[in-house]
Amino acid sequence: MKIDILKKLMFTQGVTGREKAVAAVIREIAAPYADEIKSDALGNLIVLKKGSSPEPKKLMFAAHMDEIGFTVTFIEEKGWLRVSNIGGISWAAAAYSQVTLPSGAKGVLVPESGVGAGDYKADKFVVDIGAKDRKEAEKKAKVGDFFSVNPSLTRLGGRRYAGRPVDDRIGCAVLLEVLMTAPSFANDTYFVFTVQEEVTGSGAKTASFGIAPDYAVCCDVCGTGDTVGATPMAVKLGGGCTVKVKDGSVICDPEFSDLLRAEAKAGGIKYQDEVLVGGGTDTRDMQTAGLGCPAAAVSIPTRYIHTAVETFDLGDVEAAVSLLSRLCARKLD
Ligand SMILES: [Zn+2]
Repeated sequence: MKIDILKKLMFTQGVTGREKAVAAVIREIAAPYADEIKSDALGNLIVLKKGSSPEPKKLMFAAHMDEIGFTVTFIEEKGWLRVSNIGGISWAAAAYSQVTLPSGAKGVLVPESGVGAGDYKADKFVVDIGAKDRKEAEKKAKVGDFFSVNPSLTRLGGRRYAGRPVDDRIGCAVLLEVLMTAPSFANDTYFVFTVQEEVTGSGAKTASFGIAPDYAVCCDVCGTGDTVGATPMAVKLGGGCTVKVKDGSVICDPEFSDLLRAEAKAGGIKYQDEVLVGGGTDTRDMQTAGLGCPAAAVSIPTRYIHTAVETFDLGDVEAAVSLLSRLCARKLD
């Protein structure tokens, strides 16, 4: 895995509904490898690699470009910005974070004084951008601005890294690496970098409707059971990528998922079976668009999802790249 590409993706802000900058970075990297590349009405970036086999089937991969964040709802007379969440924000995780507004202005996201962590919710938070009053604040911010907690990427040790937004720039990086390095493409393979997964899944839904894939695979993050105090879950960091059985929004196609497991075994690729109790992914929207298709998902085990310290193991990421590359080479019927 090319860490510099992942880092570039992570350090480009793309809150749900505002993914254009991320799409531009991906387009530039993908263009030399693509047979066709286009953006659709919602802003999904669709990269096609044509299949070499006769009458190739359509295989669609999806990873979402958007990240959770915030929007400005009101500017107080004293210059504080009131905020609301875009996607599944943990206010405990977001408290006392540094943020950057679309104007480039820096701020800190803080709870109101005296509010205990147990009472954290959207209307108890403000952004302090260092403005002395509303007039000064309005020079740097406006109602409806979207922004997120500042990006970071730190190597913890060995092959483990922590930072944000890993969800789901890591999936985007996996798809890019497959596009750039897979030795062959038997099927018409659509690499789709989707919008708005964190709120509605509308990007995957409309892209799938347009492509009408025969098979679909989502690449996103999934939780793990190996943190202190974690709910028991048979997924751990360093155990390989996962092949999803189900999550909170989808039950994956068992035969197509078994085909992925068989490819992993044949290639000596480490994988784990994933049953994610909560959470949803683009998998559901690909499975149910149009007349529907067999859908599966390959996830990157990630600790502390939706915080500023999302933690992953590079070995698991490489396993996902290897597995999806093998799938690209296999002619699907
Ligand atoms: Zn995600």
